[in-house]
Amino acid sequence: MDHRDILNRYFGYSEFREGQEEAVTHILSGRDLLAIMPTGAGKSICYQIPALMFDGLAIVVSPLISLMKDQVSGLLESGVGAAFLNSSQTAAEQRDVLRRAARNEYKLLYVAPERLLLDEFLELASGAAVSMVTVDEAHCVSQWGQDFRPAYMGIRTFVGTLGRRPVLSAFTATATSRVRDDMISLLGLSGPHLVMTGFDRSNLRFSVRKPRDKMRELLSCMDALRGRCGIVYCSTRKAVDEVFRALCEKGYAATRYHAGLDERERRENQDSFLYDRSAVMVATNAFGMGIDKSNVAFVIHFNMPKNIESYYQEAGRAGRDGEPAECILLYGGRDVLTNRFLTQKSLEANEELDDEARASLMQKDEELLKAMTWYCHSDGCLRAYILRYFGEDAPEYCGNCENCSSNFVETDVTLEAQKIISCVYRLDERNRGFGRNMVAQILRGSKSERILQQRLDTLSTYGIMADQPTSRIYSVMDYLIRNGFLDLSEGEYPVLRLAPPYAKVTRGESRVVMRLPKAPPKDLPKAAGKAARAAGAGQGGDGQGGDGAVEAALFQRLRALRSELASQANVPAFVVFSDASLRDMCRRLPESPAAFLEVSGVGQSKLESYGEAFTSEIRLYLEEARGETRAGAPRDR
Ligand code: ADP
Ligand code: ZN
Repeated sequence: MDHRDILNRYFGYSEFREGQEEAVTHILSGRDLLAIMPTGAGKSICYQIPALMFDGLAIVVSPLISLMKDQVSGLLESGVGAAFLNSSQTAAEQRDVLRRAARNEYKLLYVAPERLLLDEFLELASGAAVSMVTVDEAHCVSQWGQDFRPAYMGIRTFVGTLGRRPVLSAFTATATSRVRDDMISLLGLSGPHLVMTGFDRSNLRFSVRKPRDKMRELLSCMDALRGRCGIVYCSTRKAVDEVFRALCEKGYAATRYHAGLDERERRENQDSFLYDRSAVMVATNAFGMGIDKSNVAFVIHFNMPKNIESYYQEAGRAGRDGEPAECILLYGGRDVLTNRFLTQKSLEANEELDDEARASLMQKDEELLKAMTWYCHSDGCLRAYILRYFGEDAPEYCGNCENCSSNFVETDVTLEAQKIISCVYRLDERNRGFGRNMVAQILRGSKSERILQQRLDTLSTYGIMADQPTSRIYSVMDYLIRNGFLDLSEGEYPVLRLAPPYAKVTRGESRVVMRLPKAPPKDLPKAAGKAARAAGAGQGGDGQGGDGAVEAALFQRLRALRSELASQANVPAFVVFSDASLRDMCRRLPESPAAFLEVSGVGQSKLESYGEAFTSEIRLYLEEARGETRAGAPRDR
C-alpha cells in the first residue's frame, strides 16, 4: 500500500491537500522535516501516514492533553493502534500503556514532553524500535514563540538517547523566522526540508481603530454587524463582564466565556455559541482553542493582544467558511500596560522557570508586544504587515484592509513604468537579462562593482530613476509583472523580460494607474528596524545607547534582497542568512568584502555567494540616505 492508498483506506480522503503529500513523501524518504501550515490545513495526516507505513513505533510529542485524546480516538476509530501517555492517567493506566507499547501494539504513541526523560519512558524507548519522532506545536520549543514550554528543550536529548536516530519531523501553525531558526537548532533537526503553505486569508478584512471611547466604538461596530455571528475578545475577565453586560443591554444575543466562570457555565455558553443560540461570544483568549465554527463573521478585539501570533490566531477564527469577514482591533494605549502586567504575572506564576529565564522571556515578550503595537500604528497595508511578520512575501496593497481603503490613492505611474520597461528593453538589446534587484539598481544608478564591471552604467537608462526610492521602483515593477507588461522567467534565476503588451505603455497608448500609499509607508521598516534594535540589545548588544546603529529601512531592504536570492537559489530564506545576520549587517554597515566577513554568520562561502549583493545594497542605501539628509528630508527617527 502506498501513501495514497493509506489516505484513502484509513482516512477516507481522496486527495492530499496543499503541502501534505510533500511532507509525507519527505518523511518516508527518511529525511527530517519542518512543516509550517496554518490551523486546519491538516498537519496530523502528514505524520500519521508515514507512522503507519514505517516498521516500529512513532512517538508524537504533543503539548495538549485534550488534543492527544482526540487524535488517539480518531486513530483508533480508523483502525490504527494508538495510545497516549500524560498526567490525566492513573499510574496503573500509564503502566498498561507502556506494557502494550513494549508488545508492539501501537503504531503511534502520543506523549507529553515532560514524560520523555522519565526512566520508565526511556526504558521503553530504548527497547522499542522507534521509527520516527514527531513534534507537534513545535514552536513551543522557542522562547520567541507564544507558548514556550521548557520541557520541549528535552526533546533533543531524548532523541539522542535512542540507539538508531529516527526521522525527526516538526509541525507548527505559525512561526516567525526566529522561531523557525530555534525549532531547527533546539530540536536538533538535521538539514530539514521546509514545507510552508500560505498564511493569507484573503476574505478577512483587517481594521484598527483608536477610539477615545472604546465601548461606544464597539457598539457602533456591532450595530453595523447586527444579525451576524462573531466573537469579541477582551484581555481581562472584568472587561469581558462589562462588554457582555453592555451588549445584553443593547439587545444582542450575547454570551461569555472566561476562566472565572465554573466549568458547567463555560461549557453551556460555549455550546450556546457553537449551536447559534447566541450570536455573539464575549471572551478572554481562553476561548477558542479547538473551536472550529465556520460561520464566524467577525472577530473584534476590544483590547490589543500580546503579540501578532495570538492576534492572527484569534482573528483567524473569523471567516472559516470563506465568506467575507471583519477583523477589527480597538487599540488603546492602556492595552500595552495591561499586556505587560499579564505577562509578568504569568511568568511569575510559572514555577518551571528560574529568574534568569524569566527575565529573558520578559524581554522577548516585550519585543513581541512592540511588533503588535506597531501593527496598530501602521499606515501601510495591515495584511502585508502580518504576512511579512511571518516571513511571507506580500504586495504593498491588498485592497481588503482599512488602511488600503483609506491610505492609498490611485496614482498615475505611466512615466515610471516607461522608464522600467525601457531599461529592460535596453538590456534586451544587449542580450542581457537580469532579475528585479539588478534592474532596480541600474535604474537607481548604483555604483556597485557588478554594475560597473559589466559596463551597465553606459546604458541610456542608467540612473534615470535615481530620484525614486527603491521600494517605489519595486512596487511599479511588480505591478507591471502582475499585469502582464513584464514577465519574470521561471527557473533558478528569474529574469525580467518584456511581454508583448509593453509597447502600449512605451507608445503612451496605455496609462498605468495603480494604488500607492499617499505618504510613503513608514510602518514596516520602522517596526522591523526597531525590533532589530531591541533584539540586538537583547543579545548582549549595545543596549539603548546604540539606537542609531541599526537602520530600520535598511533591514527591510536586506530582507527583500534575501528573499530574492533565496528564491533564486531555491532555498528557504534563513538558509541564506538569519535575521540575526541581517541585523548585524545593519549595525556594521559593511561596504567591503573584508568588512562583510566580520558580520556574524558570514563565512568564506557566504561571502563568495552573497557578499557582492549585500554590500552593494548597503552602499546604495547609504548613498540614498546621504542624499536625503542633504536635501533636508526628515529622517524617520
Ligand atoms: P491541523 O492540525 O493542521 O490544524 P488537522 O490535522 O486537525 O489540522 O486537520 C483538520 C481537518 O482537516 C481534520 O478534520 C482532518 O480530518 C481534515 N483533513 C486533513 N487532511 C485532509 C484531506 N486531505 N482531505 C480532506 N480533509 C482533510
Ligand atoms: Zn491592505
